[in-house]
Amino acid sequence: MPRGSRRSKRTVQPLDLSRALGGQPRRAVAADGREFFVTPPVGARKTYVCPGCGRAVVPGQSQVTVWEADSLLGPDAAIELRRHWHTACAPVR
Ligand SMILES: [Zn+2]
Repeated sequence: MPRGSRRSKRTVQPLDLSRALGGQPRRAVAADGREFFVTPPVGARKTYVCPGCGRAVVPGQSQVTVWEADSLLGPDAAIELRRHWHTACAPVR
């Protein structure tokens, strides 16, 4: 009996994200079924534009960093494309 049968498509392992991003990413499913990783940006010092409402996300404001979990471009590219959202605007939180 072979051990460790085939593991099909396991959940993507978070890379070295806790170091890169400051927070531990969670995987979450949006209302439309897409999956994202979400992490609270720790110590965000820059101002970003929220993709949800188009307004500024300023340091100290309640915000999350979100990127696609199953990007066709691969996990590394997906992380590069992460965006800062207001917590209330994010597709997942
Ligand atoms: Zn917003």
